[in-house]
Amino acid sequence: MSMERSPIDSKIAQDIGIDLKSLSAQKLEEWQLAEIRKLLAYVGRSRFYRERLAGIDPDSIRTVDDFRKLPLTSESDLAGHENSLLCISPGEVTRMVTVPTTGTTGGSKRLAFTGSDLMRSLKFITVAYTTFMHEGDRMIVMMSGGTQGSIGDVVKHSMDQLGAETCIYGPVSDIRDAYEKVREWKPDVITGIPVQMAALARYCELQARETAEGDGLVQIREVLLSADDVPDAICDRLRRVWGSRVFRHFGMTELCIAGGCECCADMGYHLRHSDHYFEVIDPDEDGYGELAVTTFHHQAMPLLRYRTGDIGRIDRSVCACGSPLPRLIGPRGRISNSIPPVGEDEPRWSSSVFIRDLEEIIFREPAVIDFECERHDREISICLKHFPGDMPDTASVSSKLRGILDKAGISVKVTESEMDCFEKVYNSKKKIVFR
Ligand SMILES: [Zn+2]
Repeated sequence: MSMERSPIDSKIAQDIGIDLKSLSAQKLEEWQLAEIRKLLAYVGRSRFYRERLAGIDPDSIRTVDDFRKLPLTSESDLAGHENSLLCISPGEVTRMVTVPTTGTTGGSKRLAFTGSDLMRSLKFITVAYTTFMHEGDRMIVMMSGGTQGSIGDVVKHSMDQLGAETCIYGPVSDIRDAYEKVREWKPDVITGIPVQMAALARYCELQARETAEGDGLVQIREVLLSADDVPDAICDRLRRVWGSRVFRHFGMTELCIAGGCECCADMGYHLRHSDHYFEVIDPDEDGYGELAVTTFHHQAMPLLRYRTGDIGRIDRSVCACGSPLPRLIGPRGRISNSIPPVGEDEPRWSSSVFIRDLEEIIFREPAVIDFECERHDREISICLKHFPGDMPDTASVSSKLRGILDKAGISVKVTESEMDCFEKVYNSKKKIVFR
């Protein structure tokens, strides 16, 4: 496999106005600090930031240390106070997205974006796709589409620019129907929701076994999995069953969809550095900590040192593809969705078990196509979902889960149940449901 440099670097060099040869982490950081100074002046348009940043001279922010003295923002600043963060008039907002807050208390937060905010995201996604897509390729998008600003819609626009043919299928509900669509349309690339792709791959595997040799076989050249957190176990399944190269896109609503994309080296996410600055708050000794993001160019609701609630790490080594820019490793998952060890009230990432850790075990079991997870005090109940007649090895999964949950003082009960379709409105974000 050739190790081509991530095309994202060329975009960033262009955005910051230097040639690719001169691009370095230091050049990028100097440029980002200048953008942060512009941002500090810009956010004075919002009541929230005007109050929060009173007395701070944007021009005084010269180093990353200066920047880190600025106040953090969090989703509690957002929830219910959205209008006070707006830097434009409400009439100029193109897209308003409501998402549940990450805390256990419930509630939701709303994020506003303009057409320009969406356009920047779209430009990044187009470039990210050129990591593996070429003119004339055929791609099926198994994510929501149809409405302006939806992921499917954004991806379709990007593909039109690349000269690729796109079919917006939408999220998978009827797995057999999705399988037939893939067999009929023969895409080079699928963009999809990780768990749904894991189920579709299993379905393909079972079909190939049942039908005459090779007849049911599906090969997909590349798969792009888009979510805030994708387990390696799912990527490995798609490599094994479809023979695919698998790329992960990291996105969050707060970033206006696009955040970063893996290159061929599989060494973390190449980030959207010319629009975002990622930092780790209070890193532990391995460098992991809560990720905070600053968005330089969002017109509607720019975020300054916004705590994402996700645990991750920033890798500053040079990527095997040759990129010298920092990459995001992880994210491991949300703090609110992790299990702290016994006797600790405050979740700590260094010793907590994340749902991602459970997923890495659960999706290694080939027959598992989804799961549910509930926690009752010190016991977790996990229900493994599988196709009718395709029994997973629950004893083996249970024993592996005990291996990581014992140290957290949590016992685990594993059951199984059949499924053959996903709910129409499927929320791929796995949560540990507290009862
Ligand atoms: Zn790379």
